[in-house]
Parts: sequence; C-alpha cells; structure tokens
Amino acid sequence: MTATELQGSGGWVNAELTDEEIEKSKLVPSMEKYFLASLEKLDNEKMLKHFCKTCNAEFDGPTKIQIEEKPNEQVADGLILIERGQYTCHKCNSIIGEYRVFSKSQ
Ligand SMILES: [Zn+2]
Repeated sequence: MTATELQGSGGWVNAELTDEEIEKSKLVPSMEKYFLASLEKLDNEKMLKHFCKTCNAEFDGPTKIQIEEKPNEQVADGLILIERGQYTCHKCNSIIGEYRVFSKSQ
C-alpha cells in the first residue's frame, strides 16, 4: 500500500492504494498525476487525510460520503453503473471529488 494524493474537483484525498489502484487512478499512464474520479468508492479506512479548496484547509481522516444515486443502469456493454456520489467536506459540505461504482453484468 502506498499513500497517494488523488485530485478531485474541489480538493484532494490522500489514500492508501494498491499498485493496481494507483495505475487505475492515472488518466495518462506516463503522468504522475492521480485522480479520485478514476477509482471506485474508497473505503473510509483507506483515506488518511484530505484537502478542501473551499476551506483552504487540510483535515485528517476520511471525507464525508454523499450518495447521489443508485441508478443500476447499463452504461456500456456488460457494465452497469450501480452507484454515483461525492466525497464532501465535513466542515462546509463542498464537493471534494466524485466516484462511480460499476458492476459487470453477466
Ligand atoms: Zn470545506
């Protein structure tokens, strides 16, 4: 596990990731930049700290998680979007980043 800073639209989350997750979080494989939205929902215990742009402050521990919807809709062949939501700030409720969880259909 490696502590990695994942960029979101309203800040970042520093989380413990496996090598596989680190690769998955990069938009461009050759670029050392990691994105929250490229990964599925992070476990609370994996989030070490986070930064909120609105508060302009760093906080220890996980963000809040706001579930937007559980659509269960087919987004591509064999791929179902089962949950969509945001990582939000405990203090001001701003959105720090977004996540989507997919499931493979049979
Ligand atoms: Zn905030």
